[in-house]
Amino acid sequence: MKRENSKQLFDKAKDLLPGGVSSPVRAINPYPFYTKSADGSKLTDVDGNEYIDYCLGYGPLMLGHNHPAIKDAIRTQLNHGWLYGTPNEMEVQLAERIRNNYLSIDMVRFVSTGTEATMGAIRAARGYTGKNKIIKIEGGFHGAHDAVLVKAGSGATTQGAPDSLGVPRDFTKHTLQVPYNDIDAIVEAIHGYDGEVAAIIMEPVMGNIGPILPEEGYLEEVRKVTKENDVLLIFDEVITGFRLAMGGAQEYYDVTPDITTLGKIVGGGLPIGVIGGRRDIMQQISPAGKVYQAGTFNGHPLSLASALTTLDVLEKEKVHEKLNLKGDGMRAMLRDSINDLGLDYNVSGVGSMFKVFFGESPSNYQEALKCDKEGYFNFFHRMLDSGVFLPPSQFETNFLSAAHTDEDIDATVEAYEKNLRQ
Ligand SMILES: *Cc1c(COP(=O)(O)O)cnc(C)c1O
Repeated sequence: MKRENSKQLFDKAKDLLPGGVSSPVRAINPYPFYTKSADGSKLTDVDGNEYIDYCLGYGPLMLGHNHPAIKDAIRTQLNHGWLYGTPNEMEVQLAERIRNNYLSIDMVRFVSTGTEATMGAIRAARGYTGKNKIIKIEGGFHGAHDAVLVKAGSGATTQGAPDSLGVPRDFTKHTLQVPYNDIDAIVEAIHGYDGEVAAIIMEPVMGNIGPILPEEGYLEEVRKVTKENDVLLIFDEVITGFRLAMGGAQEYYDVTPDITTLGKIVGGGLPIGVIGGRRDIMQQISPAGKVYQAGTFNGHPLSLASALTTLDVLEKEKVHEKLNLKGDGMRAMLRDSINDLGLDYNVSGVGSMFKVFFGESPSNYQEALKCDKEGYFNFFHRMLDSGVFLPPSQFETNFLSAAHTDEDIDATVEAYEKNLRQ
């Protein structure tokens, strides 16, 4: 497969953009492919190569690329202008639609990214409780802001160390980390800092090191323990919201948090983030309350138009029912292939999220680290040469979209078999 044009672009980009890219995960050694266009389940690069896409913008494109209904919605909105700096009707409509789907949500604040959503959610939790500490799960990703850029591997009751230069230790000392699927570690952290913990923030299904699934009863236990100790529970559903079900992981697993963050899927591919929660908590947010949150692009008309149409299509076409079945089928086929090949790899996933782990199926971050990361990366390249674009890391979830056909899936499983064999 020739990628000469991509290579040339990257050579130039390295001189202009740090690492040659606009976001770190896009930097693929020795050089990434540059996309020229996208449609349905496929990307086409600047050298004319076509790839079946399981990265899907790292999650948002539940309906695939270039969905005609979303394109129409954006076009229609363009005719009415695309930034007002005033309230608009769509934010009322979308807020109502979200509330109707999420038991935990009475009110929402629209922002532009998932990062802003978790930043605002944590601030709201601290403002509401008057407490400073937060607990996060090791390996959990909540965007790129100071409070959550905490090095993995620190014990439950030690103070978090920054995972990035430029983040003062003082800014992360209130962030405690615990392993996923370990309720005792949460209890220990809460009791270790008795009366100081405002909230626990977690991805109900770990999407950024996997997917890694919650063990039976874990989320229920987290809910119980947080309630008993007056600690707010924030579900970061930026990946799982509107993906596992219309009501996200909280509907899928029937566990109700106090605050929810949404993003990715709900925007249909346009930038959006949502902070949602109980009325008494959300009323703390400015201008109703004293937790400050603001944004020039909050509730952007193009994103809202795209979001409303995305939810329409998801509902009308019963996308979750079909796509979750497709995910089950895909995982079963991959398991068969791995068994036939006699490999000790494992397939993890739920709904339309999946991943082949080059090793045991992990139940937390430390276990995930034991997988053969380099082997996976070499496999990623072989898949790319077979016309399948998987996220370029052992720790990024693969996604299915409504645009993936049975032919796509058959071709993909065939490519898996061929490239796992090597
Ligand atoms: C992607 C992601 C974020 C950050 O969202 P951005 O829109 O990239 O800022 C936050 N939380 C989770 C769980 C995510 O997967």
